Amino acid sequence: MKNNRIGMILVVSSLAVIALVMALLLQRQQAEHAQQVRAQGLGMVRSLAALPASVLAPAQGRTGVLDSVLAYRDNPDFAYAAVSSVDGRNLAEVAGPGVVLPPAAALAVTGFDERLVAPGQNQRAIREFRGPLASAEGHLQVRIGYFEPRRLSGMKDLQFYALIALAVFLLVPLVYLVIKREMAPLAALGDQLAAIAASQSSAVAPVPADQDVRGLAAKLNRYLDQASARIRELEQDSVANVASSRLLEYGSNKMQAVLQCLPDGLLVLDPAGEVTFTTGKIEPLLGVPVDEVLSQPVETWCRDPELRAMLGRFRGAGSDNRSQMTIEFNPAGVPDKRLCVTAQPLHGHSMIYGTLVVLRDATREHLARQAGNDFVAHVSHELKSPLNVIAMYGEMLADAGATDPTVRVEAINVIQDEVDRMNSLVNNLLNVSKLEMGSMRPERHRVKLEELLRDAWQQARSRADAKGINLELQVARDIAGVSVDKDMFRIALNNLLNNAIKYNRPGGTVILAADEADDDVVVSVRDTGIGMAPEDRARVTEKFFRVRESGPEQRGGHGLGLYLANQIVELHHGRLTIDSEPGNGSVFSIHLKKMPALAEGVHVL
Ligand code: ADP
Repeated sequence: MKNNRIGMILVVSSLAVIALVMALLLQRQQAEHAQQVRAQGLGMVRSLAALPASVLAPAQGRTGVLDSVLAYRDNPDFAYAAVSSVDGRNLAEVAGPGVVLPPAAALAVTGFDERLVAPGQNQRAIREFRGPLASAEGHLQVRIGYFEPRRLSGMKDLQFYALIALAVFLLVPLVYLVIKREMAPLAALGDQLAAIAASQSSAVAPVPADQDVRGLAAKLNRYLDQASARIRELEQDSVANVASSRLLEYGSNKMQAVLQCLPDGLLVLDPAGEVTFTTGKIEPLLGVPVDEVLSQPVETWCRDPELRAMLGRFRGAGSDNRSQMTIEFNPAGVPDKRLCVTAQPLHGHSMIYGTLVVLRDATREHLARQAGNDFVAHVSHELKSPLNVIAMYGEMLADAGATDPTVRVEAINVIQDEVDRMNSLVNNLLNVSKLEMGSMRPERHRVKLEELLRDAWQQARSRADAKGINLELQVARDIAGVSVDKDMFRIALNNLLNNAIKYNRPGGTVILAADEADDDVVVSVRDTGIGMAPEDRARVTEKFFRVRESGPEQRGGHGLGLYLANQIVELHHGRLTIDSEPGNGSVFSIHLKKMPALAEGVHVL
């Protein structure tokens, strides 16, 4: 039905076009014909008017030019030619068959002109062309008439036009069929669009039969509206998605940065035992580059049997791999390190995503533990040996002391020394404990450094003499003052002097000196003793650190003297520096800020 309507429209419109084209053609043809007649008529009048009257209308019995115009009788449009006087008489005339000459009219002032002569009964309208005869000085005029073209003169072309119309008429169904065929996908598209549009609503609306193209356009518009609304929705979704993915990326980067900043190394293994995530810290801890570890199973990179065995237990989804496990070992890649590794399964909702492995550098703890154990052993020894000596001399006093004054004096002296030694150890321990609890706060006052050093030197002399060590003091009386807690500073100084004497050789020298350098006062304890290797020198201020003694001579100690000295110097905002050469002795220097010089008469502690 819809297609028939289109066909009808096509037929009617094509016929209308044919009719219009034919009418235009006829009109054009008639206009051209009238143009031709006018040109011919005026041309002929002008040429005849230029001739003498005697030539145009000669005396009777002779042929004039006008007669030769008769030749125009073959021209179906020719009506007449005449030479007329102003009063309307025709002096000469030739006319087509059955043509009655209209009476002559007065000429217009301008000369040559034309007029339309209304048709008589059963006659055609005539267009007359006129002009004054030059030789008759305006008394005569030449007239030539032509029939006005008939309105239906184009009828002779009717067959031709009919043929064209027939061809067009036959072509129309063909064109219609072709268009119909071409339109079919469009119509299908229209139906599809209607279906798509209808699928958004509850019921499928019937497509109105009388709105094919408009219906299609409407459907298309509806579809485009819906499509653009959907596109807008999708664009909004996509903007929201981009924003949330940026947020996620930001969050994940932040999380990565946080994990990478952790002091411990992290590894995440999937249930198959392959590494899916790791932080850069594992490299210094395990001695294996990160890219050798990532995406690799444990066996390919792990050189430590303890770690391999532990991680092996977390592989798969077995029941024994569900609890946390910790081991400690020296990694093969970094033997001087002690590693503490904790592995624990990553539990999700009733499933295990893999294993989280935390690697922690436990070297310090390990060393501290070791040092602690050593310390207990040392302290026990340090306490036990003076106690033994005291016990022994106590017995001697009990046995022979009452009678022999020499034994008594010796015993009392030895007991006194040992008590001092024990006292020093206990004091050091108490000081360390005070330091660590934060209760050791220096009460700083300006002191006369020369006096302070001289006191310390005096106290140490007896110990130096006993060991055959030469103890010197090199300090200027007017050395700049410093602000220190006298008691604490003396502990640090004594520890340095005791070490310089203890780690010296018989006949060696210890020099206690003080010098000024720029804004500092440098108090130094220099000895000619056994010295230290650079790696030991770097660690001697650690708590409980003692250099392992290799020689036959075993010097007692507990690894607290330098730790305490260093802590005390730092509490005074100073620096303790150590220079040492194995076999050649050491220099321990305390750098303190100088106090400004005092005005005269001011009392100093
Ligand atoms: P200790 O009780 O063992 O003397 P310290 O903390 O005083 O503890 O010293 C730590 C270590 O530093 C000592 O074990 C010793 O090996 C080394 N040391 C300290 N002073 C000297 C020194 N003047 N010369 C050589 N070695 C020293």
